[in-house]
Amino acid sequence: MRYRRLGRTDLEPSILGYGASPLGEEFGPIDAAEGERAVHAAIDAGVNFFDTAPYYGRTLSETRLGQALRGRRDRVILATKCCRDTADGFDFSARRVTDSLDESLRRLGTDYVDLLQIHDIEFGDRRQILEEALPAARRAQQAGKARWIGVTGLQLEMLEDVARRFEVDTVLSYARYNLAITDLDRSLRPFAEERGIGLINASPLLLGALTHGAPPPWHPAAPELLEACAKVDAACRDAGVALPALALRFCLDHPYVSTTLVGMSNREQLAMNLAALDFEIDAALLRKIRSLLEPVSGRIWASGLPENHDQAAKIQ
Ligand code: NAD
Repeated sequence: MRYRRLGRTDLEPSILGYGASPLGEEFGPIDAAEGERAVHAAIDAGVNFFDTAPYYGRTLSETRLGQALRGRRDRVILATKCCRDTADGFDFSARRVTDSLDESLRRLGTDYVDLLQIHDIEFGDRRQILEEALPAARRAQQAGKARWIGVTGLQLEMLEDVARRFEVDTVLSYARYNLAITDLDRSLRPFAEERGIGLINASPLLLGALTHGAPPPWHPAAPELLEACAKVDAACRDAGVALPALALRFCLDHPYVSTTLVGMSNREQLAMNLAALDFEIDAALLRKIRSLLEPVSGRIWASGLPENHDQAAKIQ
């Protein structure tokens, strides 16, 4: 396993990070005991970065991850989130940040997290995020309940804007750097690198679309993008290549991202994803994949308040 410093924090996550949303059954039912074994096997293989959120399975992911980490907490870097967990969706108030973190700590069975992230900021009012949520997260850091703080979301321009106006330690962006979409390098990444902000890339399999299975029924991408991913799947099958390994390796090669978060719920997926660390991408196959994805390249979906949507992206 290789490790990379996360911006100017003192954290050194494994380049392959464990996304715990499938433990909350966000992608369908799982075998909970097998999920716990997958967490243990990941730690034994050197994976040290675990990302969860109260939102994943409406607390189920945190509860299961907390259970799996009993006796192993000191071997991992633990990241969770706040503000996307109330019955009606989002609450970016200072009070909610403080209460939510205390609730997360109880579920996770720990007295601190290594990273507290404001979840999916494009659903919030920019001023409230800057004046309430982030200062409350900073206070939690000063109180020793969170070692570092960050923001997450889909809309790159808002992530960058908020990071320009409030000194966050990390930014987690998802679905913006993968085989089909790479605009993270155009927006956000240059600024993050200039300021030494830790950059986390999530959803390297494009939320399950770049695997050999069917994407989840709720997948937000346009049908054309999903159809192009199905063609990529067929091309990889013809070439005898595991699409998830190729898709993940593509992301692991990013020169600035510290850790790539892939969602996993069993040891079979974990083994496949660990194999991606040594996977060699065939240049001719990558060219073919690029040509299949070219017509839909950069297409992203609407997420969050309309005023927070990227101006430069092809939103549909
Ligand atoms: P992903 O691209 O990692 O895809 C996950 C899906 O692929 C799941 O169905 C998983 O079971 C499946 N999968 C994983 N490895 C596989 C393999 N080798 N073969 C076949 N299928 C495989 O998408 P994701 O889970 O959404 O993203 C990863 C993690 O990043 C999440 O769990 C979460 O921790 C984080 N994330 C955060 C945000 C946010 O903060 N807004 C958004 C998205 C993701």
